[in-house]
Amino acid sequence: MGKTITEQILDDHLVEGDLTPGEEIGIEIDQVLAQDTTGTMVWLQFEALEMDEVQTELAAQYCDHQTYQFDFKNTDDHRFLRSAAGTFGAHFSRPGNGICHNVHKENFAAPGKTLLGSDSHTPTPGGLGQLAIGAGGLDIAVAMGGGAYYVEMPEVVNIRLEGELGEWATAKDVILELLRRLSVKGGVGKVFEYTGPGVETLSVPERTTITNMGTELGATSSIFPTDERTKEWLDEVGRSEDYVDLQPDADAEYADEIVVDLSEIEPMIAEPSMPDNVVPVREAAGQSVEQVMIGSCTNGAYEDILPAAKMLEGREVDKKTEMIIAPASKQASEMLAREGWTAELMAAGVNFSEATCGACIGIGHVPGSDTVSLRTFNRNFEGRSGIEDDSVFLCSPEVATASAIKGEIVDPRDLADELGDLEDPGFELGRGYDEHDADLISPDEAVDDELIKGPNIGDVPLKDALESDIEGEVLLRMGDNITTDHIIPATSDILKFRSNVPKLSEFTLSRVDESFAQRALDADGGFLVAGENYGQGSSREHAALCPMYLGVEGVLAQSFARIHKANLFNFGLVPLTIDEDDYERIEQGDNVEIVDDVGAGVRSGQEEFTFRVNDEWEGTAHLDASEREREILAAGGKLSWTKQQAQDG
Ligand code: SF4
Repeated sequence: MGKTITEQILDDHLVEGDLTPGEEIGIEIDQVLAQDTTGTMVWLQFEALEMDEVQTELAAQYCDHQTYQFDFKNTDDHRFLRSAAGTFGAHFSRPGNGICHNVHKENFAAPGKTLLGSDSHTPTPGGLGQLAIGAGGLDIAVAMGGGAYYVEMPEVVNIRLEGELGEWATAKDVILELLRRLSVKGGVGKVFEYTGPGVETLSVPERTTITNMGTELGATSSIFPTDERTKEWLDEVGRSEDYVDLQPDADAEYADEIVVDLSEIEPMIAEPSMPDNVVPVREAAGQSVEQVMIGSCTNGAYEDILPAAKMLEGREVDKKTEMIIAPASKQASEMLAREGWTAELMAAGVNFSEATCGACIGIGHVPGSDTVSLRTFNRNFEGRSGIEDDSVFLCSPEVATASAIKGEIVDPRDLADELGDLEDPGFELGRGYDEHDADLISPDEAVDDELIKGPNIGDVPLKDALESDIEGEVLLRMGDNITTDHIIPATSDILKFRSNVPKLSEFTLSRVDESFAQRALDADGGFLVAGENYGQGSSREHAALCPMYLGVEGVLAQSFARIHKANLFNFGLVPLTIDEDDYERIEQGDNVEIVDDVGAGVRSGQEEFTFRVNDEWEGTAHLDASEREREILAAGGKLSWTKQQAQDG
């Protein structure tokens, strides 16, 4: 039987298992990336594994989330990351040089290679044929040490693109349409592979907008074939030698097929506060807009900002609206500046931010209370912008710019009719990509050869091997779709403690219940209970590490998000699935006891565990784990397990 592109790349990198969907496979990793908020732990864990040097073909450390050096903590983290990259042999991208996915895409991403990154939007370079997967920081540390990455073999779904985008319709509208159809859970356990005649009508930057937001569908990854458009992009970034031809075999079989006729796509918008809350822009039109932001790893490229510049040429942003552009890379900023577009945009009333994630996680440009913010980002989870009662809409740069001109949400087709002289700026590929490299430090240019640890850099906490009895209080009962932002908020006042786990733990689940951390410490162990899709959102491993530090033993949930579940195994927390009836019966403060011998059950492959609540009733919880995940859980987490493996030779 023929293979899909995903299967071809996995087969080339397979070190364990076979390609049966749902079964665990181990794959070799060619490239890794880490960003600053996850990176400090990656390198502390790499150090704890007693590794000397990065073993993958390429490793890159970016500073993009917390680039503002408010006090010494972020600055110290950046120095630590630079010193770790230098000491162990990774590339280092300085703070302000841009968002990891964009800088990686421009400088290193290559078709046919595997990439593992400690950030959930790692699949972005799937748009140029790289099989890229987001994972926890510990998985990155192990992969850098030469270890395989283990993942459930996903189902490969064919997204067949037909036709061509019409006027004012963009790649962002394609992925928003998929989110409208499939929801934020529609891609769980799947890779979306794009095929069909519509593919060649999209350039690499457009494709990467789509693959970037495959993460919002919950997909393991998304990937496009390679073609003339891929060559054109690689030529432009000065890496034509990286091109390889990637096509699915003629008789490749897909688990499912979804057809998207690009000619039927119209401007779309995601309403607050979920990326799948998507409607045509016309249905949301007329709402007054106070803030418009163009940027993020989804739509912060040169090719995303240029249409805004063309639309604003000779015009102004409405007086009641603030418009901010945060380019996704300094390379994009430099190209805009060289061509004079920065001055045009400034003259139109636009403010520029440095190239950073920033506002995407509530760091700077926090919207006013109870006001509409229109953003080209990929996520609009409640409170992510830095204020709980936010009202964030997600859209294309074209819709954002049209709305900035009008001061209210507007479909650009309607604004064009109204103004008479506003034209669809269309798509234009950037030129001169290879000029900016001053902010990338290669291993050969390393400025440090030993780790520099400031006072805010702590140790990695370890957990003991899994015990036979687990019993404790339900410390918190939560609803559906709890995100890693709920578990550990990513705002600057909190995330600056990312390298100091005891301090950061004080903020665990504080957005759900402010007294949680103290209660967990006082209770000395216990459980979290949640509904569906627990742990969705970013790959933040602190969302497992901090509950572990506070003594949480396990999570009882109706279902788990993929990366977070892997993180729970990695830090020795037992992820148990319960059915809806039992979930409804459990209350916060209940005492839960796992009746079976947990340690022995986990080791022996037991899938069902009986739990007793308040000595009054019993239910059944399921442990869905591979043999390796069971070994990791039993050892007390992946760090202990990996060290054990190394000792056993
Ligand atoms: Fe940065 Fe936002 Fe992209 Fe995450 S989603 S990498 S925070 S821009």
